[in-house]
Amino acid sequence: MLMRVLLLAGFCGLVCQKSYGVHDAQKKVIPLLIVGGGVAGLSAAEYGSRAHIPTVLFTGEKRGGQIIDALEVENIPGLPSQPGIAIIDRLEEQALTFGAAIVEEVVTEIVPVTADILGEKASIFLVKTASGREVYALAIIIATGASQRRLEVPGEEEFWGNGVHTCPRCDALFYKGQDVAVVGGGDTAVEYAEMLAAYANKVIMLIHSPAMRANPHVESRLRKYGIIEVMYHQQVVKIMGTRRMQGIELEDMRTGERSFLPIAALFLAIGHEPTTSLVSSLVDLTPTGHILLTKRTQETSYPGMFAAGDAADSRYRQAGVAAGDGIKAALDAVQYLHDQGMTEHVMRNLRSAGMLFNFDT
Ligand SMILES: Cc1cc2nc3c(=O)[nH]c(=O)nc-3n(C[C@H](O)[C@H](O)[C@H](O)COP(=O)(O)OP(=O)(O)OC[C@H]3O[C@@H](n4cnc5c(N)ncnc54)[C@H](O)[C@@H]3O)c2cc1C
Repeated sequence: MLMRVLLLAGFCGLVCQKSYGVHDAQKKVIPLLIVGGGVAGLSAAEYGSRAHIPTVLFTGEKRGGQIIDALEVENIPGLPSQPGIAIIDRLEEQALTFGAAIVEEVVTEIVPVTADILGEKASIFLVKTASGREVYALAIIIATGASQRRLEVPGEEEFWGNGVHTCPRCDALFYKGQDVAVVGGGDTAVEYAEMLAAYANKVIMLIHSPAMRANPHVESRLRKYGIIEVMYHQQVVKIMGTRRMQGIELEDMRTGERSFLPIAALFLAIGHEPTTSLVSSLVDLTPTGHILLTKRTQETSYPGMFAAGDAADSRYRQAGVAAGDGIKAALDAVQYLHDQGMTEHVMRNLRSAGMLFNFDT
């Protein structure tokens, strides 16, 4: 009866172009599943649950995501400066208040399936987790974020977020009037050096090769700042300090000679990797491996699957932007579910038929 309601409303029709076999009806259903417990995922969870869509968020291994590494976040509109973890605590609390469930699970596989539920077929997603859980999701938001490439040298972990940074837009202000360095020789490194030049006393660009990967004209542009110095053939081998970072040890790639460079902060511009392998065979990706969004929405190329935050953003990578993406993704997903006939009435039927995922598990 219930699925007849769904089918009459056209629920099956939309997602049927890629189906991987008919599945049983024993698995529990999550109307809106969010994969990722960072700013984007939590913002989506708030909006999904506020719209009375039963919403479950699987956090993955890093509950809270990248922002928990930020000791001080001062650029989120309307929020006073505070540690990233405090922002995550509030976001989680807000999502829970509206009825979302937050579960510490790593999603290992998402398979589009035609599920046989109460004798009717519907095209949905079978979701598998690292703990062996299997659930059905009617719509999914991918908010799996990104991870910064690291130098993997001694001291990096110790000073991560407190001397070693990846976001000058976020942290340049903390080093006003001090000497700082940027590692990397591409366009991003140049952009970082220019951003830092607005605050720092001196900016040193450290490049391990004999030339920049960035456009050759930029070097003359950088010279005009007067405070940006470029050092070639330099590799960072150690980050040093006691409680506060005091400098770095460099190795000259030609001679092997080591030297100490006193700086207050090191900004890494050596790339970041979007965490998109989970869906790389399902949705279209950009050349940088980010999820490709369509039509200025948070829709992916796969119907019923949406994306938000750094997983789909190679350009801005800001918490405020991730939150906005999460909100948009939830609004898009809610609209999608409504368009498929997933009204509150259907949700109630799903619940009374005992088919909904038990939110307390
Ligand atoms: C040190 C640091 C400081 C920063 N400071 C600032 C700042 O001051 N201001 C600012 O605006 N921005 C800052 N940023 C950037 C900001 O943190 C990010 O842009 C934002 O957090 C991205 O959020 P997200 O939710 O898209 O992804 P992420 O924060 O990367 O979260 C991804 C989530 O997905 C989960 N996940 C991944 N794979 C799976 C899976 N298979 N199954 C389930 N879950 C999965 C992870 O566990 C994680 O919870 C900073 C970043 C860093 C690293």
